[in-house]
Amino acid sequence: MSSITACVRFRPLSSGERRDHGDSVCIHCVDSQIFVLKDEKEEEFTFSFDKVFYENSEQAQVYEFLALPIVKDAVDAINGTIITYGQTGAGKTYSMEGPSIMVCDEQKRGLVPRIVDGLFDCIKSSEGTVKHSIKLSMVEIYMEKVRDLFDLSKDNIQIKESKAQGIVLNGVTEISVSDPAEALQTLSSGIANRTVGETQMNMSSSRSHCIYLFTVQQELKKDNRLKTGKLILVDLAGSEKAEKTGAEGKVLEEAKTINKSLSALGNVINALTCGSPGKAYHIPYRDSKLTRLLQDALGGNSRTALLCCCSPSPSNASESLSTLRFGMRAKHIKMSLHAKSSEDKYAKKDGSPSSSKNQACERIL
Ligand code: ADP
Ligand code: MG
Repeated sequence: MSSITACVRFRPLSSGERRDHGDSVCIHCVDSQIFVLKDEKEEEFTFSFDKVFYENSEQAQVYEFLALPIVKDAVDAINGTIITYGQTGAGKTYSMEGPSIMVCDEQKRGLVPRIVDGLFDCIKSSEGTVKHSIKLSMVEIYMEKVRDLFDLSKDNIQIKESKAQGIVLNGVTEISVSDPAEALQTLSSGIANRTVGETQMNMSSSRSHCIYLFTVQQELKKDNRLKTGKLILVDLAGSEKAEKTGAEGKVLEEAKTINKSLSALGNVINALTCGSPGKAYHIPYRDSKLTRLLQDALGGNSRTALLCCCSPSPSNASESLSTLRFGMRAKHIKMSLHAKSSEDKYAKKDGSPSSSKNQACERIL
């Protein structure tokens, strides 16, 4: 039985925060899992997560704890999802991409370039017996529309559910890549398309959810049987409350849409953790594109990790508190992974599922 791995990362204080509040922080570290947050009213809240990365944590530590096990599983045909959550400026994109996914500084490289290297490393070790392929897709969800970042003409991709593959993005561009450099080049073209959108449509990247999809397919050389693992990385839009941002007009509409989809995510998490045992229950996955896309990640067959990104500054204590409460709720989702038996791991080449039990999912309340 597995749970969502829920971690917290506090970024270093920004220069603005230092200017306004000096070196003061609203968190007190207890150990690598427990810390205390003090809000503006000096009230103290103790939190316990699977891992807490404090201000001086390194990108490599986040990768090794949070992503490496998921990368290894993806190569073994177990789906994986990594989500970064938090207010704008809390360090979601820095954790996911680093200063840029092409950055060469080993210390600064984010999860995406490390995951790319990790996937190719894992696959290399089975080169003798298995033929592998890695395909990439990239989309963003903006104003409840899924846009293909590898083909901007596909600006309203539909999300479908297939028995064999689970949740799929209908007609999304998939690009095959054969080495880490090609993969990073491809992904940075997707990121660049996000930026084009920004200037043309006055769209800030923190107002859309950015989603990286890796499909890892392996074919046994002796009998051509296939196994496929999917890895989804989600850099969510900022979780700050719309009314707090002082936004108006279009920007307010964007903020409201984000809040709606993040609320839908919260509602799905609540439904997954608060139902009563043995009772039929409704999980409102269809209430937003985000929850529909993450359906497998949240309630089904996926190993999922959530990184709650927070500022340590007292000025952001209330936003950090709300991020941490969200993370605590997510931590209590329990799901059964399909640790497939070795004969189940390979599907037939026609793409039909290797076993109906692979599609089954179970939730423990
Ligand atoms: P978000 O994506 O959550 O809106 P960013 O990742 O863009 O936030 O981070 C905001 C700023 O803080 C950026 O300038 C980024 O470089 C910096 N930052 C975030 N996390 C860290 C970190 N762990 N170490 C150093 N700088 C960081
Ligand atoms: Mg960001």
